[in-house]
Parts: sequence; C-alpha cells; structure tokens
Amino acid sequence: MIAVQKNLITKSDKKIVLLVADGLGGLPRPTDGKTELEVARTPNLDSLVRKGITGLIEPIEAGIAPGSGPAHLALFGYDPLKYELGRGVLEVLGLGMELKDGDIAIRGNFATIRDGKIVDRRAGRISTEENRRLISILKDRIKKVEDVDVIWESGLEHRFALILRGEGLGDMVNDTDPQKEGLPPLPPEGKDGPSRKTARILRQIVDKAADILKEEEKANSILLRGISRKPEIPSFEERYGLKSLGLANYPMYKGLARLVGMDVPELGYEFESLIQYYEEHFEEYDFFFIHYKWTDKAGEDGDFNKKVKYIEELDGYIPRIMEKNPHVFIFTGDHSTPAMWKGHSWHPVPILIVAENAGVDDACRLTEREARRGYLGLRKSKEIMQIALALSGRLKKFGA
Ligand code: ZN
Repeated sequence: MIAVQKNLITKSDKKIVLLVADGLGGLPRPTDGKTELEVARTPNLDSLVRKGITGLIEPIEAGIAPGSGPAHLALFGYDPLKYELGRGVLEVLGLGMELKDGDIAIRGNFATIRDGKIVDRRAGRISTEENRRLISILKDRIKKVEDVDVIWESGLEHRFALILRGEGLGDMVNDTDPQKEGLPPLPPEGKDGPSRKTARILRQIVDKAADILKEEEKANSILLRGISRKPEIPSFEERYGLKSLGLANYPMYKGLARLVGMDVPELGYEFESLIQYYEEHFEEYDFFFIHYKWTDKAGEDGDFNKKVKYIEELDGYIPRIMEKNPHVFIFTGDHSTPAMWKGHSWHPVPILIVAENAGVDDACRLTEREARRGYLGLRKSKEIMQIALALSGRLKKFGA
C-alpha cells in the first residue's frame, strides 16, 4: 500500500465505518435469474446507494475462492499473500483462544491407533461432549513441557486446538497426520533450530497424550497439523494511525480484528448487541469494523430465501449506523457465498462507499449487476482501505 510505504498518512478526526456482511455476493437463481441482493427489499441501502459510489471487489485474485481469514485481512488493507495465516492460527482464532507474539498454533484431531497404525483419523467422530471430557483430562495432565506452556481447547467432534507458548519456538514442523489410514503417524521434525525445539516438545505431547488416553476405546491418540506461528502484523494504529473497534459475534472474526490490534469487546451472539455498543462508544474510536455473519451461513446452507431475509434484516440496522454520521461508510462482503454454490466462491463482491466528494455514480441499488457500472469499477479488496483513508482526509499528496 503506497500510503503506508511512502508515509503519506496524516491525522484527521473523521470516522470510518466498515460494515461487512459475510459472504454477501451471490449468483442468479434459475427460476427468475435474480441474485439474493436483487430479490431483497433494502430501502435503507437503496437510499444510501443514491448518495454513494459502488463497484465490485475481488478478495484475493481472479478465480480464487478465499477463506474468511485472508478475505478480512484484505479488507483491512493488508496484502493477504504477504500476511499469510496458517491453518493452526485460523483454528485457534475460531475457537476464541488468545494468541500472543511468538505463540505456535496447532490443529489437533483425536484418532484411533492400533499396533502403531492409524485405523481412524477422526476417532469415529466422537461427540463434542466426549471431546470436552478428554480435553479437560489432557489440560490437567499436560500443562507444561520443558519451559513451554501447553494450552488446550476443545473444538467440535474429534477436533481440538493447541497453543505452545514459550521462548524460541519455530513453526517449520511437519504434520503428524499422514492423511491416510493404515499408516503410522509421522514423528514431528523441525527444519531449523527453533522448529526442532517445537518438534521435540510436540513429540513429548503426543507420547504423553497416548499414554493418558491408552484405555480409551476410540480416541486413544492425537494427530497434529497446521503448525503455524502468529504472524507479525503491524496494527491499525501503527499502520494508519486509527484507533479502532472490532464488533463481531463469532470468535474467528473477533480474533482477526484482534490480530490487527482492534479493541474487541465480548458481546455474545446477538447482532443487536454490536449495534448498541457502536452507538454507545462512537466518540471513542476513529474506525469501526462491524461483522454480520448470517448472510454467509444462509449461503453455505444453500438457502436463498434465508439469505434474502438476512440481507433485509441487516438493512433494518443501517439507519442506526448512519444516525451517528460517520464521515465514511463502507458496506460490502468479505467474499461471495452464493446460495446456488453452497460455499465461498471467487465471484467479486458488490461494495458501497458513502462519503462527501466520493465520486459520481448512477447505480440505484447495490447488486452484482448494478455494481458493474459503478465508479469504483473492479478492484482488489486490499485497495479499499486506502480509499477510505483518502475520503477521511488522512492522505497527503504523493510527489511535489
Ligand atoms: Zn467470510
């Protein structure tokens, strides 16, 4: 980002709101050829579109369907290919665990091993309740290995996550899961000095866990993968001079906001609670990230009508957000999750930016079709933050 590289950022007290409807973009349904956004009744959004500028954003690159992790980093203005998030890091954030600098994050599975060979990589998909019972035993018995703290957290069914916290740990360590049944688990090996320490700690954890679990019928051992380090990401404050607030209901998005240094309160699972918090704390911050999860969930379920309903529900909250008069208001999605696709897709996502002197635009609604004609054209998600900085008076001229 040239604003950051060339030190073009200057102070301003103008506030920026970034409202992200997860998986917002969609595809036409066969019955009438309309997308979710085209079917939804969105009077509040429509009136903002007439004042703002629109376009389409590509989360990572053409044809690439992204996960929500890199897609959000891009919206926050970070190059998602430069600041890569490891699988372990995403798992740990998704379970709401706190990551500190230098931490190593790992995804784990309970597995069934007989005579040294894996017979079930998922331990018969034990129940989440059973998982919690086993993790509470492991938590108790394996708290520290050498000088390294070991932090355990249950996931769903056979999944869990681990954090290693200590000095001099590396993340160049192979998965112990060979991805195939009938084979023995692979011993962890490190590729450099710090990673050899991580591998040595992990070998002890795997052995101790197998000893503790040896009487279990299904979950009698553990497999580890996605071994990754918390990435070193400059914070919003350092990078843009923005004091920022992250509002989200789900752990993964709270974790992503914390990774870039936003303040993130714990507010439960009601979207209403996020909006109330925004209203009460508007004076305290320069930047607000508000995350709405339900559009993505409905898209993943392949439920077109439900996605429409959630878009309409979110539209109902927009007047309360605008009531505070943010100088720059951005509404978009992190990626598309078309109900027709039942998952994340690569399709560009419509975006709306409302601000003084933002540009000229004829779009009347925010839809995939209308946004193609918009002033912003087709851009990469990672460029949006720079436009927001410019529209909030935070960018100096480049060159004399
Ligand atoms: Zn997403």
